Amino acid sequence: MDEIGYNMFKNRSYILTRNEKVIDVGDAFLELTGYTQQDFLYKNMFEVCKEQLRLTIDICDADISARDKEGFIFTKTFEAREIYMFIEEIKNINEKIYYFVEKPDSRLEYKFQYVEQISLDNSCGICIYSEDLILLKANQAFLNYLEEPYNIKENSIGLNINRFIKGFEGDYHEEKMREIIKKREVYRISQYEHKKSETCKFYWESSIIPILENGRVKYLIQNITDITERILNRKRIEEQNRLIKEQKEQVEAIIENMSDAVIIFDKAGKYTNFNKTAREDYLPILSNLSCAGDKIGKAECYDMDWNLIPEEDMPSRRVIRGEKLLGYRICIKYEKTTMYIEVNGVQIYDKEGSFTAGVLCCQNVTEKVKIKNKLREREEKYKSLFNKMNLGHSYYKIITDESGQPIDYIITEINPAYEKITGNNSAKLIGKKATEAFPNIKKSSVDWIALFGKVALTGEPISMEVYSDIMDRWYNVNYYCPKKGYTAAIFSDITLIKESEKDLERIQKRLIEAHELAHLGDWEFDVAKNNIYWSDEIYRIYGFEPQTFVPTKKTLSKYTHPEDLECVKQAEEDLINGTLDSMEYRYMGANSKMGWISLKAKKSFDKNGNLIFLRGTIQDITERKLLEEEIIKAKEEAEAANKLKSEYIANMSHELRTPINVMLGAIQLFELYVNGDMLSNKGNMVKHLASMKQNCLRILRLVNNLIDTTKIDAGFMQIELKNHNIVSVVEEITLSTSEFVKLKNIELVFDCDSEEIIIACDVDMIERIILNLLSNAVKFTKVNGYIHVNVTRKEGKVIISIKDNGIGIPQDKLNTIFERYKQVNKSFTREQEGSGIGLSLSKSLIEMHGGNISAKSILGEGSEFIIELPDKKIAFEYRKENYVENNHNFIEKMNVEFSDIYK
Ligand code: ADP
Repeated sequence: MDEIGYNMFKNRSYILTRNEKVIDVGDAFLELTGYTQQDFLYKNMFEVCKEQLRLTIDICDADISARDKEGFIFTKTFEAREIYMFIEEIKNINEKIYYFVEKPDSRLEYKFQYVEQISLDNSCGICIYSEDLILLKANQAFLNYLEEPYNIKENSIGLNINRFIKGFEGDYHEEKMREIIKKREVYRISQYEHKKSETCKFYWESSIIPILENGRVKYLIQNITDITERILNRKRIEEQNRLIKEQKEQVEAIIENMSDAVIIFDKAGKYTNFNKTAREDYLPILSNLSCAGDKIGKAECYDMDWNLIPEEDMPSRRVIRGEKLLGYRICIKYEKTTMYIEVNGVQIYDKEGSFTAGVLCCQNVTEKVKIKNKLREREEKYKSLFNKMNLGHSYYKIITDESGQPIDYIITEINPAYEKITGNNSAKLIGKKATEAFPNIKKSSVDWIALFGKVALTGEPISMEVYSDIMDRWYNVNYYCPKKGYTAAIFSDITLIKESEKDLERIQKRLIEAHELAHLGDWEFDVAKNNIYWSDEIYRIYGFEPQTFVPTKKTLSKYTHPEDLECVKQAEEDLINGTLDSMEYRYMGANSKMGWISLKAKKSFDKNGNLIFLRGTIQDITERKLLEEEIIKAKEEAEAANKLKSEYIANMSHELRTPINVMLGAIQLFELYVNGDMLSNKGNMVKHLASMKQNCLRILRLVNNLIDTTKIDAGFMQIELKNHNIVSVVEEITLSTSEFVKLKNIELVFDCDSEEIIIACDVDMIERIILNLLSNAVKFTKVNGYIHVNVTRKEGKVIISIKDNGIGIPQDKLNTIFERYKQVNKSFTREQEGSGIGLSLSKSLIEMHGGNISAKSILGEGSEFIIELPDKKIAFEYRKENYVENNHNFIEKMNVEFSDIYK
């Protein structure tokens, strides 16, 4: 090519390659694309076309040189240039010339000026695609919709849509694009959701407009607007509406189920809504209620000062008038029910501010009011109690040191009784510390601070009786902890009680001792509770330790003598019925202790006249009873003795009359003899004289015995003890009676162990005794019988036995013969005279010696009388005084004693 030719050529728009490498670029091409030569030189032409120029024509196409091709290239600033392209090949040197000729009037900015405008405005995204869907132009607003790195021009302009929108190929959008091209219709996407992430979403609005040239779609212009804000707003509004609806439903449900009654009425005062509580609790009362302020059925409404609320001032009316009610309390009285209600009332206004409805919210505060009233009453009661009670009441606040130990206390409250009891003035105490109010507090015998501190800090109450050395008085105090750190005291002055307690103790002691001495106990029977109380002495009477068991009716039966059980049971009923107030019965207590009880009872009644208590005493009257028994016995004995005495006197009279009659007969004979001068009948006279003497002796014996018996009874008979040889005394007496024994041809034998037994005895008495026994033996022994007298010594005793084989004594009479005036049997002894006094006298005399007498006998075979005398001597003999000496000599005595036996 020549210079000129080259220069001309040079101006043309081409790229020259050798071996596919750029070796030259025409100036016109540089002008067209805005590049410099350097931007292309020595680069591979395929890469230059593809990467730099983004040529929309495939230069590898086989028939590339055949004809001109149409397509787009892009300038350095990524402006699309529509071009024709053709290639010249210089084969021998392997050079190619690529010509690019811009299509006239093809520039987009001229064709689509509005696009340019919109593009510049950048408020919405706009782009132009070629029919092959190559992005020819796009403003930044559009690019911003693309994913990184495609949101900058160099990464997206000139590229097929496939390359910068991921997944476009085969996608719904690709199909849509093809359809637009095919159908040539505008396509709108009204709301495209673009998810950047789960939480980050965008909404776009877009339209794609096909642009036709020469009857076919040449371009696609797409605009795109972000409507996220709008959509979100709409969504927000929708959400808000949904929430509002939900909340409304919730509120309605809450209102419906509220424990407060909610009543709604319109501006005309007509009730429109009642919630459940209102319907259930109020409608029964507010029957026939249709309009606010209507008289509420039969119910009456009062305010808290008990003023009747007139209709026009009912809460609903007041709300309609524009008043707001807050915690307004009213009281509804309906039949017997009183209901306290707290009413809150508000108005509901519309946008214009006019009243549309009223709401009353009513809470049933009956319980609250009642509790409050009760609390108030209690507080008033407590206050008046505090001020009026007789017990001292005081409050203390405890002061502690750092370690929590009580070191002082403050007097916070005292009642008038406290002042009265202690004489302390409240003005001087309230608010003061104990150490200030009572300067001597630490000297007191009680550590008050520690005591109060303990109660306040442990909360444990303490009750005690305490002596105040300062006041010299006794107090009964209850300390308790009203709240932690505080101690309260309730106390009373018990000095008088303490003194009377001591008195009472003394009285009780006295009573107990008196009860003990009198064997008297007291008891109480609680009729309703069926409880029995016994004092200590009752336990002792029954032989138990005091209070060792709780007495019951069963116990009573158990310790009642079985024989008296029935009558005691009856008596118990009679006690309760009031027909009896005392009884005496036998008990059988511990260890079968038996005795007599005297029970006395008194009844106590309640106001209505019901028997509530039986109270009374139980006295052990065993001693009295025994005494009574003895007295009765003695009386019976005395009566028996008296009877015996009468019998005896009768007998005695007979005994006296017989010898007197005998003597009278003899005297009459004597008179006959003297008057008839028959004195010569001497023999008869002597006989009669002897008989007279005999009978005189009988009378004398009787009288002697009577005198001695009387003496013994009166205690005048005295014994004169001297040491005598009892063997010889008895022997002499025995032998001296031989004259009388012979009369009946009775064998009289005296026998003894030893010749001499010296004992202390009264010889006169021994004589009387032995003569009495011998005369009885002679009297009751038949002719030819025997009498054995025996004296022996045995175990410190001298035994004198007088044994006969006479008529004997019946066994059952053996004991009674020694009793005074007892004769075995009248018929039995009728043959024999006797006064029945001799044995009794002998027994008394023997007993005066310290001895005794007994009898053994077999009826019809004989009797033995045994005397036992103590085998004792006396050291000093003495003479008895006041003893009238019996002057009769022994023979006389014997004659007297044997006077029953006629010679
Ligand atoms: P009396 O003066 O009647 O003899 P006693 O007191 O001496 O009175 O005797 C009381 C009674 O005891 C007598 O009446 C008699 O029945 C009975 N008696 C006493 N001694 C004997 C005896 N040895 N044999 C039978 N009976 C006797």
